[in-house]
Amino acid sequence: AYVVTENCINCKHTDCVEVCPVDCFYEGPNFLAINPDECIDCGVCVSECPVEAIMADYEVPDTMTSFIKLNEELAAKW
Ligand code: SF4
Repeated sequence: AYVVTENCINCKHTDCVEVCPVDCFYEGPNFLAINPDECIDCGVCVSECPVEAIMADYEVPDTMTSFIKLNEELAAKW
């Protein structure tokens, strides 16, 4: 699945949400999360993100691996 990472915090753009074919983005007060169970790995959202916050789970750098769990948890909660 694809994962929203740190640069998304306080970003107010929602271009990624608009292009997702399966509507798997969940919006919180200052962050977006992708539901990994719903993401179909199409990759369309990656280039739409103006702050380069979205990447495949296997590409997430070691310093940001906590975001993988965070997306899962927040998407379930929101
Ligand atoms: Fe949606 Fe595709 Fe991005 Fe997954 S990779 S969140 S399905 S646009």
